[in-house]
Amino acid sequence: MSRFCQAGLLAGMLLTTSLSVATEPAELTPKQPSSKKLSPQEKAFQQRVKVPKPKRFVSAAQWGSRPDPIDDDRRHAPRRVMLHHAGVLWTTDRDPVQFIRNMQSWGKRRPEIEKPPRNTYWPDLPYHFLIAPDGTIYEGRSLEYEPETNTKYKLAGTLGVELMGNFEAQRPSPAQVESAVQLVAWLVSRYDLPSEAITTHAKVAKGQTGCPGRDFARYFDEETAHFKQWVEQVLQGKPLVIDLGEPLKDGPTQLITETKRAD
Ligand SMILES: [Zn+2]
Repeated sequence: MSRFCQAGLLAGMLLTTSLSVATEPAELTPKQPSSKKLSPQEKAFQQRVKVPKPKRFVSAAQWGSRPDPIDDDRRHAPRRVMLHHAGVLWTTDRDPVQFIRNMQSWGKRRPEIEKPPRNTYWPDLPYHFLIAPDGTIYEGRSLEYEPETNTKYKLAGTLGVELMGNFEAQRPSPAQVESAVQLVAWLVSRYDLPSEAITTHAKVAKGQTGCPGRDFARYFDEETAHFKQWVEQVLQGKPLVIDLGEPLKDGPTQLITETKRAD
């Protein structure tokens, strides 16, 4: 029986290089037998395919992003991917590009329109990507910089992926979830992250938020881990099969693509 937990094993794999330059004398470091049998997790990690950038992608330049410059001390190296929802009910009359532009300009104007302590200046969108109900992925903040938040958690190393909508009150669309899976698989592949690096806002900022809303958060349940399994299908080069299941008991029933504005 291994004395390492799964996460430890994967972290160990990723840290091989730094461990080999540890100050400990080399002869005290036990040698790994070359014929070592790989665990299913290690095998899956080694068999990953290179995931291409998702197709339904709109770059920041394409939608006309106008960020302010971000300070150099906000640069970071991505280590985890965090899923969010907007927390704002999406209705079919909304325009995704207008929604993003409004969020960006609001962030830049916060010190003028909010009272302390919530008047933090956001030079650009708080998220790195935003996904519309039809599955279109909009590029937000540059991946080179840490995100923004109104909650407390370690920002450096975090990539933020937001799905438009409020998943306490409506359900994400299949196209939206599929784009989220393809996007996260691309990020995980690009930065060589273990599947433990996929998380949600509520899991990290414990007790501070219900984000990304119960009808999306359900797919990050530790037992079933649906979202991680879908990402793994893409990482292993298998066909992506997503089943969103029945509505939760007492949960929202209406899809985001069906929610009309109340008159
Ligand atoms: Zn969030």
